Amino acid sequence: MNSEKRVAASKDWIKGATGDWEIIIGLEVHAQVTSKSKLFSGSSAEFGGEPNDHVSLVDAAMPGMLPVINEYCVEQAVRTGLGLKAKINNYSIFDRKNYFYPDLPQGYQISQYKQPIVGEGVVTIDLDDGKTVDVGIERLHLEQDAGKSIHDQHPTLSYVDLNRSGCALMEIVSKPDMRSSDEARAYVTKLRQIMRYLGTCDGNMEQGSLRADVNVSVRKPGDKFGTRCEIKNVNSVRFMGQAIEFEARRQIGILEDGGRIDQETRLYDPRKGETRSMRSKEEAHDYRYFPDPDLLPLEFTDDWVATIKNSLPELPDEKRNRFVSAYGLSVYDASVLSAERASSDFFEAAAMGRDGKIAANWVINELFGRLNKEGKTIETTPVSARQIGEIVDLITSGTISGKIAKDVFGIVWTEGGSPSEIVERRGLKQVTDTGAIEKAVDEVMAQNPDKIAAVLAKPSMLGWFVGQVMKSTGGKANPQAVNDLLRQKLGIN
Ligand code: ADP
Ligand code: MG
Repeated sequence: MNSEKRVAASKDWIKGATGDWEIIIGLEVHAQVTSKSKLFSGSSAEFGGEPNDHVSLVDAAMPGMLPVINEYCVEQAVRTGLGLKAKINNYSIFDRKNYFYPDLPQGYQISQYKQPIVGEGVVTIDLDDGKTVDVGIERLHLEQDAGKSIHDQHPTLSYVDLNRSGCALMEIVSKPDMRSSDEARAYVTKLRQIMRYLGTCDGNMEQGSLRADVNVSVRKPGDKFGTRCEIKNVNSVRFMGQAIEFEARRQIGILEDGGRIDQETRLYDPRKGETRSMRSKEEAHDYRYFPDPDLLPLEFTDDWVATIKNSLPELPDEKRNRFVSAYGLSVYDASVLSAERASSDFFEAAAMGRDGKIAANWVINELFGRLNKEGKTIETTPVSARQIGEIVDLITSGTISGKIAKDVFGIVWTEGGSPSEIVERRGLKQVTDTGAIEKAVDEVMAQNPDKIAAVLAKPSMLGWFVGQVMKSTGGKANPQAVNDLLRQKLGIN
């Protein structure tokens, strides 16, 4: 679709003094490739370490050093392209992007320019109202990361840490298809999710594995696109939303005052909640791109690409849809469970051969609820999928009530062990023996003659009696049996 044609829903328009405005957003996301070693050297690409621990002569750009392409990083980029339903270019070229910076020892960055490894694709984003929007991908290219200048360790000197220098990045450029900060946030969230499923980027924004340059312009709804500003290096989804909101209003203010937008690069300051100019288009670099003479073009056969395609895992959208159709889950529950591959695997292990809805309920409400509360994750959960599955079995077979099941879950959480053994050992089995239940019902009735009169006048009071009987049996009576007996004895239908 032609990006310019997509008009935002009117709820996303911004009211200005001269009428409504639409926000236009396009993102350039930098995603660090998950790989043991760097794009053109054998140095470790691991995060952290002492400064300059992971630096080879190639990364430090010593004279005469030559880059050697890391095939695994190339494969990761292709895998990501396939996950974005994008065109894989069987022929692509590495270029030198020339600029000077102290943390860029080569004096240029090896990147891809006119002929990137991946072409057009699409990411389907999910909005809160249940609607979806297709955001076009313009391209994905491979490039090297730069090092880091450190200015706050010495009063007069700056230090340079080259650990990141030469790590593989994928730059993923979207079309200007987003129309609100919510859509931009949903896009980054989905992109991150897809790459985490693929295992091509860990998506860790705090460690800088994922960061975005955010392009924002405004227009009167349906008009031609206006001039955009680019907000550099935003490294949190929340800050990105704030930066877009601020920037759109800033531009509307200028335009409504009769001014015009200068195309410029800006920075977002989260403390002040505003963007400020970094450089204008006139100061933009001329990078003097040219093909890197040290590297051959990348050439793939269709077979090689097909092999990677066949090894792709089920992706989040497909998984969510399958959870809805195979287990009868709501779209919401299915989305929660498929948000991460680890939680979806956990759910499927717990649900296998069982009632999917009950299993989902237990995983989402009991397990995730408790994990959240105690600051744990699905990777560090003390309750396994097998244990949850066993609890679900105990419920569906009528061995324990839902209430007792929660107690059992609590015991498994703190002490571990097999749920059915716990139920057996602690005598938690639900009482379905009508004799025993009848005895409890009779006792409660005998102790509360006044309440009997009340419930006969107002049958909705029955719940009170059920509660009393449940209490006197320690929650072990089968609630349905209690209900039936009470109705029978009180003569309520
Ligand atoms: P450049 O090569 O100058 O960086 P691109 O065409 O690569 O320009 O666009 C960079 C980013 O800007 C893309 O993500 C694109 O979607 C976005 N973009 C382009 N035009 C607009 C616009 N009018 N408003 C908002 N974003 C835009
Ligand atoms: Mg660009």
